[in-house]
Amino acid sequence: MEKIVKGLETRLIHAGEPEPRIGGAVSMPIFQSSTFEYGGQASYHDLKYIRLNNTPNHTALHQKLAAIENAPAALVAASGMAAISATLLAVLKSGDHLLAQNCLYGGTHNLLTDDFRDLGITFDFIDGDNPASWRGQIRPNTRAIYVEAISNPLLEVADLKAAVQFARAHGLVSMIDNTCASPVNFRPSEIGFDLSLHSATKYLNGHDDIVAGAVIGRADLVRAVTLKLNHLGGSLDPHACFLLHRGIKTLAVRVRYQNESALRIARFLEQHRQVARVNYPGLETHRQHARARELFDGFGGLMSFELAGGVAAAERFVAGVTIPTCAPSLGGVDTLIVLPARTSHAGMSAEDRARIGISDGLIRLSVGLESTDDLIEDLDRALGER
Ligand code: PLP
Repeated sequence: MEKIVKGLETRLIHAGEPEPRIGGAVSMPIFQSSTFEYGGQASYHDLKYIRLNNTPNHTALHQKLAAIENAPAALVAASGMAAISATLLAVLKSGDHLLAQNCLYGGTHNLLTDDFRDLGITFDFIDGDNPASWRGQIRPNTRAIYVEAISNPLLEVADLKAAVQFARAHGLVSMIDNTCASPVNFRPSEIGFDLSLHSATKYLNGHDDIVAGAVIGRADLVRAVTLKLNHLGGSLDPHACFLLHRGIKTLAVRVRYQNESALRIARFLEQHRQVARVNYPGLETHRQHARARELFDGFGGLMSFELAGGVAAAERFVAGVTIPTCAPSLGGVDTLIVLPARTSHAGMSAEDRARIGISDGLIRLSVGLESTDDLIEDLDRALGER
């Protein structure tokens, strides 16, 4: 009888698993072999070799990732930036133009501002909240539109449905960085995005112990990205594949707990008199809360906020908390806290940060799996120390 693999929780655990199990092993074994016996493949890209991202550990992950976002195909990569850079370079060539949301993850922002010029690729930043303005920025050589599901670190939710419609109307490839929402809360291909990108380092793996990336979406585009990645060399090591595979199995329980915990913490911070502003799409006061409710099944574990006392207060607060570790990255089991202007967005110029609203005192909190009560007590105590 065929296995029932419908619900997301079942797909996370069973999709892509070898049938029958290899040697009876319930967990996917690690194939620590760089190369595999020649099987008569006609194309270089189909030879089994770790750099070509097609060993049994890779293909199992590809099937699992495609299944959890209800998409036709997927690819893993050596990091989120390997996935993002290979995707952009597969879709855009010298002379092409890109429309990109104006508040991007710092690494993606730097890729566009520092490297694209040398490659002859131009871009314009668009206001994700104002689709009417996009038409004025499109050019005859525009090939793609790039947005983030929930922007990092300002937690903005662009008009994602409008981005898909705009791409279709103008023959563009629509791409979205879905890292901060995670497939539990949002599956971009369900609303028509061509490609969804992930730093799998974050929620997908969830344990802060590997760096990995993923590209999920239309089969022809995933194939094009695969060929590009094969040349660029950003493959994921089999041991990292194994850890990512293991991490993905618990994604739903982790993210649902993080959704609940983060909402309680955001509400606590919002009413605290030392807190000037909280950015969390689950709060009714968030500018795009109605849109976030319509698009997402939950709002994730990431938030950012500013204190009434500005940068000095933020520095004292970050030094004063005891549970969160002051470290970049997000989406793992440990709660992490940073000042983005000093870490994830330090590579961005001060003017660019100011333009998009990342103040020097902005604090980003990635809520992990600790007790919500303990976290609130810890944050409350650190807020009181002033
Ligand atoms: N996209 C987002 C939203 C991120 O937060 C990050 C990393 O922080 C990346 C992409 C890049 O991922 P990686 O560090 O795995 O290369």
